[in-house]
Amino acid sequence: MRDKLIVGNWKMNGDRVSNARLLERLAAEWRPPDGRTMAVCVPAPYFAQAQAALSASAVAWGAQDVSEHSAGAYTGDVSAAMAAEFGARYAIVGHSERRQLHGETDAIVAAKARASLAAGLTPIACVGETLAERERGDTDAVVARELDALTQALGSDAARMIVAYEPVWAIGTGRSASPAEAQVVHASLRTRLARAGAGDVAILYGGSVKAAGAAALFAMADIDGALVGGASLDADEFLMIGRA
Ligand code: PEP
Repeated sequence: MRDKLIVGNWKMNGDRVSNARLLERLAAEWRPPDGRTMAVCVPAPYFAQAQAALSASAVAWGAQDVSEHSAGAYTGDVSAAMAAEFGARYAIVGHSERRQLHGETDAIVAAKARASLAAGLTPIACVGETLAERERGDTDAVVARELDALTQALGSDAARMIVAYEPVWAIGTGRSASPAEAQVVHASLRTRLARAGAGDVAILYGGSVKAAGAAALFAMADIDGALVGGASLDADEFLMIGRA
């Protein structure tokens, strides 16, 4: 059976006081229905806070990015092993904000996924098309290129990653893909993953997910959960998405 997860991406938000409030609520109130995982991906300065707040709870946590290198002269970077040392379970790699704002290429994203696995973290690898690419009819080609870079670099370890389909035009815009639109892309990703021997990988949908639309998304055959940005900063909303 495929994993079912809801993962929060706080992005560059939070402070010690508001984090404590949010993490306490999640730790106290998340009672996972069978086989479902909740996780939050926090900014690196808050790894220790997430570890302390969540270690006795059913909520896991992860990093929002990791270096493709294991150690060395990479000022400002955080290695996957550093996150793992604090108890992280996941690392988002290839988020569109990293690809667009930090020039991360498919090869770099694949190297980050490999570095995550080497440190014992599960990479949550993001793929997705821009609005211009969708309007040109290039959605399939773009996500296939991004996914193939990952499966080729990881080989048989591709089965150990999680994939997140995040159409760039839906991230932080309030405009989610419809369940049917998302399912078309998820099904095509699933076919490609199966060809690479990784057909049971969980595929999350991300892009303006809110509690109100979550159940309809999760009813789709190839949508195994969600990667949630803005709504993961609100405990009530995020818990409702997790229960949907
Ligand atoms: C994200 O940052 O991965 C994301 C999906 O953001 P939002 O839910 O705010 O669109």
